[in-house]
Amino acid sequence: NVVMNIENLHARIGEKEILKGLNLQMEEGKVHAIMGPNGAGKSTLSKAITGHYDVEVTDGAINYKGQDIVDWEPEDRALEGIFLSFQNPVEIPGVNNAYFLRTAVNAKRKHLGLPELNAAEFLREMKRLVTELGMKPEMINRSLNEGFSGGEKKRNEILQMMMLQPDLIILDEIDSGLDIDALRAVSEGINKMKDGKRSFLVITHYSRILDYIEPDYIHVLKDGRIVKTAGPELVAELEEKGYGAIEEA
Ligand code: ADP
Ligand code: MG
Ligand code: MG
Repeated sequence: NVVMNIENLHARIGEKEILKGLNLQMEEGKVHAIMGPNGAGKSTLSKAITGHYDVEVTDGAINYKGQDIVDWEPEDRALEGIFLSFQNPVEIPGVNNAYFLRTAVNAKRKHLGLPELNAAEFLREMKRLVTELGMKPEMINRSLNEGFSGGEKKRNEILQMMMLQPDLIILDEIDSGLDIDALRAVSEGINKMKDGKRSFLVITHYSRILDYIEPDYIHVLKDGRIVKTAGPELVAELEEKGYGAIEEA
């Protein structure tokens, strides 16, 4: 089953065209890795899929669960199960971490026709996951990401992911700035979310994270297009030869 099919996607930021006819097909339940050099358009792709306002799609389609979502609001994409862990998570002073997350979780539950979680039920689950991810309990009531270290921000992204139970998870350089303990905690959290239905798009320019989260497919993104798709064996070849050696088929 195809969960997402991106066809001929053109997108720009300001006046600059970044995605230049990108095609990508994702299978349900699989881990797809996007690898590519800095500036290739990887983060722009993640923002185009989630509907970030910086990115303007000028042509092409993003078919998700059979519908073109290009004109959907970001909130509606999230409600339909798309989740992005940002390369650089934003700090939002004055917004309580637990309050923010409970609002998001309950919006999703409402959308699914489920009863809202009350504060006690929600906090019990949040505390369980905070412990599991090796986060400090005080993070629950701090302002969202404010003054969090790089590793704490990434753990907090994974916490959100685990609470929201998305269908399509996009991880943009989740490994950047992580020490080995944080990398392990974050990867274990992600691997626990694998259930054969949920799909993952793991964006990275280093192969290290792929030692922890095993990909089914590797796609190479260069200059705004996917130029190669292969199995996990491609990782070793990229390590050896670099992105420069990959040319469009
Ligand atoms: P990657 O994630 O692969 O490193 P990005 O998608 O972040 O690449 O960026 C692709 C290109 O778009 C780069 O040349 C970058 O400088 C440019 N770009 C990204 N964000 C902006 C922005 N807000 N304004 C102008 N140019 C941008
Ligand atoms: Mg970059
Ligand atoms: Mg990036």
